[in-house]
Amino acid sequence: MVKNQCVICDIIAGKVPAHAVYEDDDLLGILDINGAAPGHVFIIPKQHIPILEQVPNHIVGKMFNVANRISSAIFDTLKVQGTNIFITNGVSAGQKVAHMMVQIIPRAQGDRITLEWPPKQLDEEEMSTIELKLKEEVSKIGFGSSESSAPTARVAAPAAVVNPEAEIEGEDNYLLKQLERIP
Ligand SMILES: [Zn+2]
Repeated sequence: MVKNQCVICDIIAGKVPAHAVYEDDDLLGILDINGAAPGHVFIIPKQHIPILEQVPNHIVGKMFNVANRISSAIFDTLKVQGTNIFITNGVSAGQKVAHMMVQIIPRAQGDRITLEWPPKQLDEEEMSTIELKLKEEVSKIGFGSSESSAPTARVAAPAAVVNPEAEIEGEDNYLLKQLERIP
């Protein structure tokens, strides 16, 4: 299924006006007009890539370097006391558009922005089981070469495709299936 609309791709294509604070060959950093605070920035890959798993390793690395740089600039210029840097990966995690992004929210004491959760205590047995499962699975995942890591084999673009090579095949991917339901 190919969607023809991705609001983020429209921004990248210049169809929607935006305030860019950063740009290179792969990435854009945009001021969020509906952000949590003034200076809320999202960093997006210029290719249409719906979820983090599909972003090539070298772009993932670059995104966090750029996020760190923008965060530093936010500290210096906006005189804030903190930043949150995060990704909503999947609809259940609060992802609202089918285009992966890293968000940076400037934070100040008493700003009443909530990114909190009630702490849950796992029991020891559950912890051990999860630890084993995760350890095993994580050990299978190599970092590989930065270029070959994009899972182009499962490609089939859910939304507006800027670069046809970035189409993502997602039939077996739960996160993608959910994202395809985003209106
Ligand atoms: Zn897009």
